[in-house]
Amino acid sequence: MNNSNPNSASIAVAVDAPSALEAMVDLRHPLKAKAMAWADENMVSDDLAERDASCTFWSDGWDRAVDADVLKLRVSPEYGGLGLDVVSALLWFEALGYSGNDAGLNFALACQVWTMQPIIERFGDDDQKARYLPGLVSGDLKGAFTITETESGSDTFSMGTTYAPGDDETYVLNGTKAYVTMAPEADVFIVFATKDPALGSWGVTTFLVDADTPGLVVGENRPKMGLRTTPFADLTFDNCVVPASNRVGPEGAGASIFSSAMEAERAFVLAAQIGSMERQLDDAVAFARERQQFGKPIGDFQAVSHRIANMKLRHENSRLLLYKAAALDQAGQPSMETAALAKIQASEASIDSSVDAILTHGARGYVTEYGVEQDLRNVAGGVVYGGTSDIQRNVVAHQLGLG
Ligand SMILES: Cc1cc2nc3c(=O)[nH]c(=O)nc-3n(C[C@H](O)[C@H](O)[C@H](O)COP(=O)(O)OP(=O)(O)OC[C@H]3O[C@@H](n4cnc5c(N)ncnc54)[C@H](O)[C@@H]3O)c2cc1C
Repeated sequence: MNNSNPNSASIAVAVDAPSALEAMVDLRHPLKAKAMAWADENMVSDDLAERDASCTFWSDGWDRAVDADVLKLRVSPEYGGLGLDVVSALLWFEALGYSGNDAGLNFALACQVWTMQPIIERFGDDDQKARYLPGLVSGDLKGAFTITETESGSDTFSMGTTYAPGDDETYVLNGTKAYVTMAPEADVFIVFATKDPALGSWGVTTFLVDADTPGLVVGENRPKMGLRTTPFADLTFDNCVVPASNRVGPEGAGASIFSSAMEAERAFVLAAQIGSMERQLDDAVAFARERQQFGKPIGDFQAVSHRIANMKLRHENSRLLLYKAAALDQAGQPSMETAALAKIQASEASIDSSVDAILTHGARGYVTEYGVEQDLRNVAGGVVYGGTSDIQRNVVAHQLGLG
């Protein structure tokens, strides 16, 4: 199938849509290579170190990604998107992770493409899709997804943020949400709230809440270990009145919307990180060939070369599981177990490989100026967001009939 769209100047559409198998076996698939060449030119930020230190979002990088149609990848043409398949979009994110140097921006983009947009497109009504999707693909609107609370993390549906019917076809939201990616930048939030905490998962409903709604207060940007250029904050809802037309799906459908939306996306959101693992591997190989100690390249020492071979193994394993999840998702088959395995593999392997990259580079791996250490900080969040590794193992065990 050819995705060429004569109305778009996008570089995202100029290559035939690949199968998951093609993506698996071809590390430099033409679509990914093309996106890497673009990202080399456009997604390398000169002031990353300063922005990382000050936790500053790369607005110019966001605009460049918008110009290249990154936000259009998955949304259907009816709402201004390109309607590309999952595999093409994953190759794009791998390329961003390989060639772009701002992992925080990549994470912000991934949250739009793999969380915000699909929830609205799959579960929103026609009016909600028409109101929000065109802005979310044109980059005029930024979104954030909020379910976690300080006292309700892995135990997602124990949330305390409530909704109650208000006057004139409205709902009134009260409570707080925590650790919301993109909150300080967002124009619209997907919010999960409960009718009554005692109802557990049955009480949860999903809402779209505009950032300027009275009663919604967005907290200060919260500095964190990595992904520091992705804005991140808590939210407070204080008698926040939301029109009933902004309820997504029926009352009580929030838990199934959340579970369905997370089924494969929990893995897809890590595609850029898998691209970063590949760049990290290539950097380690180049350094091990060049750096001399004891009169020869350090790559001649088996301890070093085997460590790098392990980085290769982890990267390949992560990619294979990612594209297996994509193949299942595209075929409409259950992907929950594979996606959970892919998320565990990619997030944990990234941490191990980041430590190995530091070890391989010696002190250069540890000081900030060479940029090696930032990978470890950036990937550490992967074992927490989207459900911790422990929770993913619970999912796998449950699929195996255990626990
Ligand atoms: C970078 C980053 C971005 C995030 N972005 C968002 C966002 O945009 N929107 C949003 O809503 N949230 C977001 N979060 C929050 C994230 O989803 C939660 O942090 C995560 O779900 C874990 O919740 P918690 O932090 O409360 O940890 P807890 O649930 O308190 O877990 C603490 C520890 O207990 C373990 N544990 C808990 N329950 C079990 C169990 N049943 N079995 C085994 N082990 C268990 C956990 O694995 C973990 O090791 C983000 C987090 C991070 C780090």
